[in-house]
Amino acid sequence: MACGSRLRRTRFAPSPTGLLHLGHAHAALAAAARADPGEFLLRIEDIDAARCRPEFEAAIYEDLAWLGLDWQRPVMRQSERRAAYDSALNYLISLNLCYPCRCSRGDIRAALAAPQEGVPLAGPDGLVYPGTCRGRAMRSAGPQDAIRLDMERALTFLRGTALAFSETGSLHTGVHKLDEERLVTHVGDVILFRPTIGTSYHLAVVVDDAAQGITEVTRGEDLFEATQIHVVLQKLLQLQTPSYYHHTLIRDDAGKRLAKRDDARALRRFREDGETPADIRMRIGL
Ligand code: GLU
Repeated sequence: MACGSRLRRTRFAPSPTGLLHLGHAHAALAAAARADPGEFLLRIEDIDAARCRPEFEAAIYEDLAWLGLDWQRPVMRQSERRAAYDSALNYLISLNLCYPCRCSRGDIRAALAAPQEGVPLAGPDGLVYPGTCRGRAMRSAGPQDAIRLDMERALTFLRGTALAFSETGSLHTGVHKLDEERLVTHVGDVILFRPTIGTSYHLAVVVDDAAQGITEVTRGEDLFEATQIHVVLQKLLQLQTPSYYHHTLIRDDAGKRLAKRDDARALRRFREDGETPADIRMRIGL
């Protein structure tokens, strides 16, 4: 087992922005199975208050219990973790690795459309930020500004530190050493703080996986590319890097990955149609 004699701790970290579907069942069941023997934790990723709904959170507990899963209480909820995210962000700011940014998506698209920029690159967070605000000092930050990590400066700060993670999922099994040049060109200056949510997915997930003592992160293949960002943040914040297991995504009949809006694939629709948890396991090939 990847973590020596430590007990394995895995987690399922859904966002209550819709009903759980077959893909979530896959993630939750895989995480719970990989924690046996060990501990399976649940984390409600509800930082985006505008999109999260209490009824979806209630439905998550109900659907997971119906699947036969049990998890540790109390459940961590990201909406209650603001102080931890602030302190991680302030630490990164104190290292002089951050800058404020007020570019909208439209500004970024327009900057990238300039002829000297070549073909815009898409990274794990969409278009790679062209660095328009990179020269700004943190003291110029306004209440509407996002805060970005200066990736090149962060990697310079980490020079000499081994940057790698181990993956046990079948699609990318092995140890992945981060490609620093590619991190700068193909990932770039990721957002650590959005004023609308008070943190960012990347910062919150890294802080919380460490706070929950997660030894193996189990999640969908769509987040594989984001893992390199998480490793950089773990090293900067001096947190352990867990091992990773990215599972294949469940796709619809047309080969498209399932989204929360695919209500037809919601677990409770199958349940209402008389299917059992065993049928769900069969459907996702477990
Ligand atoms: N909250 C994310 C989702 O629902 C999962 C993030 C993760 O597992 O790291 O897709």
